[in-house]
Amino acid sequence: MIYIAGPCAAESEEQVLETARALAQMDGLIFRAGVWKPRTRPESFQGVGDEGLLWLSRVHNEIGLPVATEVANSEQVNKALAAGIQYLWVGARTCASPITVQAIANAINISPQRTHLRGVFIKNPVNEDVALWEGNIRRFQHSDLGFEIYAVHRGCNHQPCWQMAYQLRIDMPQVGLLLDPSHLSGDAERVSSLCRDAAELQYNGLMVEVHPHPKQALSDAKQQITPAEFAAIIHASQVNYSTPIELRWLRKMIDEVDDRLWNAIAQRMAVSERIGAFKKANHMEVLQPTRFSEIMTNRLAWEEKQGLSKEAVQTILTALHEESIRKQQ
Ligand code: PEP
Ligand code: MN
Repeated sequence: MIYIAGPCAAESEEQVLETARALAQMDGLIFRAGVWKPRTRPESFQGVGDEGLLWLSRVHNEIGLPVATEVANSEQVNKALAAGIQYLWVGARTCASPITVQAIANAINISPQRTHLRGVFIKNPVNEDVALWEGNIRRFQHSDLGFEIYAVHRGCNHQPCWQMAYQLRIDMPQVGLLLDPSHLSGDAERVSSLCRDAAELQYNGLMVEVHPHPKQALSDAKQQITPAEFAAIIHASQVNYSTPIELRWLRKMIDEVDDRLWNAIAQRMAVSERIGAFKKANHMEVLQPTRFSEIMTNRLAWEEKQGLSKEAVQTILTALHEESIRKQQ
């Protein structure tokens, strides 16, 4: 297993060194910190910039840990390689753009300073697109550069998308697959159970956001955990599983589909309540038989499309409709 851990962002020299010292005892650890942060909103903390590379160099030279940072364009690649950074990662937002990913791969390719580069981590793109993720990885694989490429599964919209990760595992068995439970969940409370999932599904490693004082973090404060919590999670994740690996993956997929299904039903009920309020305000009947038969007819077409039996479609639709009516009343 490889463990990449460290803060979302380098915030100050003290914060970087304090976190690195707290993590230094762990075997096989790569220290991470973002210095240029691709944030959704322009008013959010954008990272400390070039100065942070000096702090990462100190982590490597004085504490002895290999270090990793995020790059989003060729200028950042050149600066990071010039600073002697050993590992680079390409973030989920950058991975949505194949042209940018290619430019990053090219910049690494032609850099005379890439000799100390030991690995590149490619996140899944922000949308659930396994072909784009695999294509991005292949952009780094075209020559024998002498560094490792890893895929980092960080989910989409705070959902795991296990099916996407499983597909990548099947299509590219030679690429190490890591899980990033921090960005996947956006929630420190979910990190430990996702680390167990990674162990259960035989992932090759983890990338976890670790901050000495998570609540005070300038970015991603809700999802970061302390170095002590991280060490305890790693310790607790060493479990043996007897179920066949393929069945473990399939069960994770079905758990996620059920989760999405219940969310979709809750969403349907919320819209239904709004319809109920509208009908009430406009003195309309709750039960509108023509609308119900219209729903039945057009949804029954799913029967053929999805290979479901007519009875199953009718039972599910009737149950949903009855619950909607109950809500509206
Ligand atoms: C990160 O790892 O700091 C990050 C920004 O992650 P992602 O690209 O997965 O959102
Ligand atoms: Mn982050």
